Amino acid sequence: MTTEATKPRYEFSQNTKDKIKMAAAFICANPDCHLVTIGPSGSDENRIQYNGKVSHILPASVGGPRDREKVTPEERMAIENAIFLCSSCGDLIDKNNGIDYPESLLKKWKEDHHQWTKSNLNKPYNGKQTINIGAILNNSPVAVQNIYTGQVPEDKEIAHDLEIFKKLEEIADEPLLMLIWNSLKDYFRLMSSQQHKLDDVRDFFELSKNDFLNDNIQQAALNYKASLEKLDVILSYDFDKYPANQGTRDYRLELLPYSIHYTGRELNATDHAKFEKGAEKMRTIMPELIDNYRKFRLEIKRALAY
Ligand SMILES: [Zn+2]
Repeated sequence: MTTEATKPRYEFSQNTKDKIKMAAAFICANPDCHLVTIGPSGSDENRIQYNGKVSHILPASVGGPRDREKVTPEERMAIENAIFLCSSCGDLIDKNNGIDYPESLLKKWKEDHHQWTKSNLNKPYNGKQTINIGAILNNSPVAVQNIYTGQVPEDKEIAHDLEIFKKLEEIADEPLLMLIWNSLKDYFRLMSSQQHKLDDVRDFFELSKNDFLNDNIQQAALNYKASLEKLDVILSYDFDKYPANQGTRDYRLELLPYSIHYTGRELNATDHAKFEKGAEKMRTIMPELIDNYRKFRLEIKRALAY
């Protein structure tokens, strides 16, 4: 029987790797990430920083992540089987043998990303936030009424609360919270788009406060909001922000401190203790956050039969 260590790996040729990197414009194809993976080194003009990875969609060796029956070595090495990701996302897609990142999803990422780079080719770079709570609200006549008048006609109250609940679910539902929780648990990384979603939920609560149907919902909403605020404090003060000085549109919070993530250097004891402290707080807050979200959702369901 072949053991894990002796299974051959069918790697991409250098030519394939180069083509895939360039077609992706060195930008991670994960739509929630879009990390720019290449740039100058901080001080030495002779060096570059590169944080990208040409990853396998179907695995490089038999039995790897996302493997299926009868895949030939040629298929494993083919350019069609390659996707460009940042190194974090490259690791992420292979966790739990790739169960959360099936072949069809990665192919879609790749195709969408190539469409995106193609449509942006020869255009000036224009980084913008994509999440816009104002735009969401403007599409909702009932909610707009609430913001500008502070009141909702009685016969519209149920529709209004339901509307708010749906918007909150759209912005940050349980799968998103679980995704964030898993990232934090594994000392991974929080995408800035995820962080913005959490911010938007808090903003939404501000806009809609006191308009929930009953005291139970309101209390559950406040608890949920309070946990989100605690999480935000931890993210803001206990973890590094990267890249602090880079003007990309999607900067992200690194849960691993900068030095270890980008240079592989070991943390000194002081930094390590600081990081562990932050991680420990996080492990406490996330189950509470998810629990509060569930209670909030349950109260809404009870009241609105949603
Ligand atoms: Zn990425």
